[in-house]
Amino acid sequence: MTALQLVELVTQGMYVLIFLAVAVQTLRSPTRARIDMALFFGATALIVVQQIAAGLGEARPELIDDLIGAAGMSLPYLLLRLVDDFSRVPVLLKRAAEAGLLLGIASFFAISGPLPGPVELALVGYFAGLFGYCAVAFVRVARRSVGLTRRRMEAVATGSFLLAAAVFVIGVVPVLIPPLAGVAGGVEQLLALGSGLAYFLGFAPPRVVRRAWQEPELRAFLRRASSLPRLPDTEAIVNALQEGAASTLGARAAIGLYDVGRNVLRFHDPHGVLSNEVGSNGVLAWRAFERQQAEYYPDPARANPALAAAYQRQDVASVIIAPISSGAKRLGALEVFTAYPPVFSEDDLELTQLFADQAAVILESRALIDEATRVRAHEDAARLKEDFLSAAAHDLKTPLTTLVAQAQFLERRARTNPDAPADLPGIQRIVREAKRLSALVMELLDASRLEQGQLLGDREPLDLVALAREVAGREAYRTHCVTVAAENPVVGTYDPQRIAQVLENLVENAVKYSPEATEVRIGVGQRDAQATLDVSDDGIGIPAEDLPRVFDRFYRAANVDDRRFAGMGLGLFICRGIVEQHGGRIWVESTVGAGSTFHVTLPIERRP
Ligand code: ADP
Repeated sequence: MTALQLVELVTQGMYVLIFLAVAVQTLRSPTRARIDMALFFGATALIVVQQIAAGLGEARPELIDDLIGAAGMSLPYLLLRLVDDFSRVPVLLKRAAEAGLLLGIASFFAISGPLPGPVELALVGYFAGLFGYCAVAFVRVARRSVGLTRRRMEAVATGSFLLAAAVFVIGVVPVLIPPLAGVAGGVEQLLALGSGLAYFLGFAPPRVVRRAWQEPELRAFLRRASSLPRLPDTEAIVNALQEGAASTLGARAAIGLYDVGRNVLRFHDPHGVLSNEVGSNGVLAWRAFERQQAEYYPDPARANPALAAAYQRQDVASVIIAPISSGAKRLGALEVFTAYPPVFSEDDLELTQLFADQAAVILESRALIDEATRVRAHEDAARLKEDFLSAAAHDLKTPLTTLVAQAQFLERRARTNPDAPADLPGIQRIVREAKRLSALVMELLDASRLEQGQLLGDREPLDLVALAREVAGREAYRTHCVTVAAENPVVGTYDPQRIAQVLENLVENAVKYSPEATEVRIGVGQRDAQATLDVSDDGIGIPAEDLPRVFDRFYRAANVDDRRFAGMGLGLFICRGIVEQHGGRIWVESTVGAGSTFHVTLPIERRP
């Protein structure tokens, strides 16, 4: 056996092998594309068998030879049908190919013996031309596809190019360049072998090749996937997963998350093919979800006539759905829509399921992160509530005890000695404690209003210098010497009650945390477009490590003794809220034992 004969035998074996592989697939699930593949390779296998028989010198009835010849003649047309399955072939070309096929078969039967030169050339032109067209069309399909499908389509395109070249070499070269006729047979054999190999990889790739082709896409996806669970919310993750599936599968993708409470899949479908909620109403996604198995619908409009119009409007030619589940836990479904029937549905089905499995892992990780955040937030809230209750209870208890005791005392006195004169100091103490109580309750209310963002009322022009002078002159701060340093009026547009509250709070603290008869200085000024308000004292100061936290809710510095200095640690928290909601800033400078200065800046809005 010569090398050339060996090449020929391998080529023939390969075509028979492809036919068998495709035939098995077609029998398993006959789709139009598969039937066309089986026809194309069936015809090829017939020719191969005929060639082998001819090699063995077997005699055959002429009719069989003619039938095999007709099968050979139909190859370009069958390949064109395959192209039509994967993309759209112009109708005119289809008709022309059919006409060419009929003419070819007719000439084959009409003319016995060798074909006349022009007829043969026309036939070769028909073969090479159609094979060439198909090759280019497959290249286009390959470009439009991604991942595994792209590779397979590239192999098919290569096979078609080589086939076209083989036909050209054997049919045209000996006629045009007779001296090359001797080598043409060998070259044709090699081209045919290459074409057989390429078709084999394209139409019936072994599992290892398929895995190797799938890997880069999956790897790329997995690399991105590791950061997905940390996206801000589940919706962002679902979007990223949809995009990932779409770009890897070369189709549109939508993910529906399972809502256990309502027993529906909630889709976030950017393409609008699906309704947002899919329940047990027979929609394809629900069917696959219920059966918990990936499904392929080559004709979704027939499988679900209710959505036929939507499928047509959105150019959906096939649907693949894979359930997203983590063990027994059902999380949702991944739905992939293609504008063309998927070239290799079994691969796409497998890849879609792989995606869905990855999506399940990512969504589960996200759920865990969410759960951890929820637990932490719950703990924080619980701790806050505890802080709040203990601070409130503690601070409300003191004035309340005095109040109740004083009131009971007055009551007893009135009962035992109704004619005695009113106990003015006792009544004054009740009023004082009641006011303190009311101030504490107001503080608590303000803190909760602040959290709901409802602290500020209407704004109006306010002169901060006038306000400072008014506050400095108050009876309550008589124990200290409160001074105001300011020159011109500083007028801004603020909520006057709330800004007054800030100043009162700062002055109150300065008075509270500094020895009697010391000075408390209020400075009001203006720098650039900012009003500045400073309150300084020569009091106990704040330890450096407490400085960053004194504006926190319920925070009191370490050098503050609850028994000596009443307070809940809410005043500065509320001050900061008021200042910041006005667009300003508040901060403190302090030295333990030397005193503190609180600085406030507020924007001065100039009214037109
Ligand atoms: P309260 O005074 O009710 O504790 P604040 O929120 O007004 O609550 O103040 C928080 C903490 O900041 C105080 O507990 C105290 O430790 C510290 N602080 C505030 N103002 C002064 C000041 N002028 N001098 C020293 N420490 C102060």
